[in-house]
Parts: sequence; structure tokens; C-alpha cells
Amino acid sequence: MTIAYVSTRDPDPGADGRALGFGDVLLAGLAPDGGLYCPSEIPPLPAVTADTGYVDAAVSIMEPFVAGTFTSSELAEMAADAYRGFRHPDTCPVIDLGRNRYLLDLTKGPTLAFKDVALQMVGRMLEAELGRRNRRVTVIGATSGDTGSAAIDALAGKANIEVLILHPHDRVSEIQRRQMTTVAATNIHNVAIKGTFDDCQDLVKAAFADPVLRADVDLAAVNSINWARVMCQIVYYVTGARRARPDGGPVSFSVPTGNFGNVLAGWYAKRMGLAVDRLIVASNRNDVLTRFLETGRLETHAVAPSLSPSMDIQISSNFERLLWEVSGRDGHAVSDVLGELRSTGRVDVPPAWHRAILAEFDGARLDDGGTIERIAASHGANELIVDPHTAVGLHAAELFATPDVPMVALATADPAKFPDAVEDAIGIRPDLPAHLAEILDRPERFETMDNDLGPVSDLLRSIAG
Ligand SMILES: *Cc1c(COP(=O)(O)O)cnc(C)c1O
Repeated sequence: MTIAYVSTRDPDPGADGRALGFGDVLLAGLAPDGGLYCPSEIPPLPAVTADTGYVDAAVSIMEPFVAGTFTSSELAEMAADAYRGFRHPDTCPVIDLGRNRYLLDLTKGPTLAFKDVALQMVGRMLEAELGRRNRRVTVIGATSGDTGSAAIDALAGKANIEVLILHPHDRVSEIQRRQMTTVAATNIHNVAIKGTFDDCQDLVKAAFADPVLRADVDLAAVNSINWARVMCQIVYYVTGARRARPDGGPVSFSVPTGNFGNVLAGWYAKRMGLAVDRLIVASNRNDVLTRFLETGRLETHAVAPSLSPSMDIQISSNFERLLWEVSGRDGHAVSDVLGELRSTGRVDVPPAWHRAILAEFDGARLDDGGTIERIAASHGANELIVDPHTAVGLHAAELFATPDVPMVALATADPAKFPDAVEDAIGIRPDLPAHLAEILDRPERFETMDNDLGPVSDLLRSIAG
């Protein structure tokens, strides 16, 4: 079986020649109609037990999604290579917190954030597919911190790929900047933009929208709307559920949420047949999704900075995929709803869609004060040191935990990435792992530029050669 991929905004996805294969979707980013690519069929869950190794689980879960592009032995080789460097033999270990609560630890990758789990795999898939097509791309991305370092680590030294990451000058932490700028590989390029994260993101969008530039440079993106990232994340929901509950009975997940890519992977796991009771969307004060669950209305506010910056988002791009599914895959209706949101800043979603989402999801928010309290409480109860994003998820997990269903909270960053908040909460400054402590001494390499597409385009042309 080969799964075809279709856009969430395509009014007639069944039309001849419209559906793409996995390799096309891997390289494509957004669909030309502005929608996101989704699998047209959802395969059944393969046999995975509490004893199945992470790489074996990854291969059996992803195989049907990539069929026609990668064989299962190619997939196995890439997965073994991608996860070899993780700092735990289980790759994504499950920690028993007692009282039927568990922590699914996604922070063991090279840059200490859950994005490594998908990006380490996506980097290898991209390199393989580009090699086969004899094509070279320049990956461009904007980052407020975590995504840039995870993408750089995943793509450093890869053939046929150049990488340009824009970060806001003086607005990322020193650790986050050094994680990006001390990577020596010659295909990695960093630019500090004199502006905000939104300025960086606007420059990326402007680059993609510039037909003259695109004629010169084959641009690609690895942001969280790439289907391949969502797909890679399905795996740890399955292995996490099996570890927390080997009998295969239902579990719930609490997920620190920004762009909705992580929790959406949990929804796909459930659709494949994993026994999932509730999916809990945990947000900080930027709570557009929690408000949506309460009211059925999507309404964007200004982004407010918080202690959990990777969740400081007002438009959760991947939510579009869920809307498309609950609409009965009605690309026309999804286009209308998102068009209204874009032009007016708010939209009331059809009540049937809202009800369908409420049947599976809960939402909870936590402000910065509560985040500090939760970091302290977790340390008191379990001697566990967690980062601010994880703390938001643990809070939501407590709100919705029931006695009979194991509650699995996802840990999305290592506390050493956010030492100030952790020190504030518990008086302990978490140490960086040895492989990162070295970056404090390594030379940095980056350029600083004005918030202007001109010099960024010139750099893209010279990188692409
Ligand atoms: C990216 C990120 C999130 C948000 O994940 P989404 O898939 O965007 O919802 C949460 N926590 C951390 C630490 C992250 O880096």
C-alpha cells in the first residue's frame, strides 16, 4: 500500500494527479494552495509491545507512511543512525512518577529538546531523497531558540543541503545562540537579524514568496508544518503508552503545546488504533487553543513572552490538520474558516467540529507564577527537575488525571536549557551535559544583518552558489 498525501485546502483532493507521494511532501513544505499535506489514509497500528526497541517500533510505525519512497531497510538504517546518539538506551524513556502518573522524556537528543526526535530522522530522510533526485536545496528557517539548534544539528554536514537560520539579534539566550553558532560544518550559516522573532519569520516568508529569488535558489523548509516531523513523533506515543501500560489499555497524554505538531502526532497514534483516552493541550499564557476548547472560537491575541518561549505562539499551524479531519476532509470549508481567521483575527468554528474536538481533547493554561510553583512542586514530590515547558504539561496532567487511566506527561526540554527559571524555582542551577558544556569555549560564527530581505537574498544566492 502506498499512501497518497493531499492538501488541507484542496477542494477536490481526489482529482487526477493532485495527490503526492511521501518524498514530494518531505521536500515541499506548504502546499501551493497554502494548505498542509496530510495522509489520505491512516494505516493500522503495528504490533508494538513494552519490549519493542525504539528503532524497531519506529520502522514498523512509519513504514506505511513512507512506502514508495523508502524501503523498510532504508528506514531501519536511518532510524538506527538517528537515534544512536541519544543519551538513553530507550531513546525516549518513561519515568514512573507514582500514583499512575508517568513522564515521557523526549529530551535525550543532541540539542536537549523534543524537536531532535523528529529532526534527526528528517535530516537523514532529506539527504537520502535529495541524493536520489540529484537535487540541492537551501533550507531556510527562523528560530526563537530551540528549532534552529535542532535543525542545525540534524543537517550539519549533510550532502546537497545548505542551511540558513535567522535568529533575532540579542533575543535568544547565550546557550541557544552558541548551540547554533559554534557548529563548524561549512553548510551551516547563521544570521542575527536586528529585529524580533516575528521579523525573522517574515523574512523567511518573504524569501519563499519572491519568485525571482526562488528561480535562483531551490529553497526548502523543515518547520513544524512538515508532515515528516509529525509522522516521526507518532512513534513515542506508541512506545510511551506501551511502557506506561503494557496490557494495552488506555492512557492519557498531557502535551506542552505551541504549534500543535506534537499533540497532533498523539491524535494520529490514536487514529491508527492506539488506546488513548484524553489528549491534553497544555499552554502558557498564550492560550489560543485552550480558549478555543472553552468557546469554539479561534481568536488570536498579541504574543506575550513567557518562561516557556517555545510555546509563545498565537497561530498553531498544525491545528489546520485537525480541523480538516473533523470537517470530514472538506478543504473548501477549511479554507473559508482559516481565511476568516486571517482577515479578521477571529472565527467561530462550526459547532460540529468543536464538539468532535472536545470529544478527544482537553485544554489547560498556566501562567509564569504557576510554572515556577510547578517546577518546585515536582522537585519536592519526585526529586525531579523539569524545565518550564514540561512544568506546564505536568500542571495540566494533574488537572485531568483520573485514578484508573495512566496519565503520561511529555517532557519537551531539558531543564539545563532554562537554568534561570529553574534556579528561581528550586535554588539549583542545572548543569549542561558534557557535550554542550564545550560550546562555551568554542568560536562562534554568525553575521548580523538589518531586517531587510535584500542582504538576506544576497547571502542565500552566494550560499547556493
Ligand atoms: C517546540 C516546543 C514545544 C511546542 O511543540 P509544538 O509541536 O509546536 O506544539 C514545546 N516545548 C518545547 C521545549 C519546544 O521546543
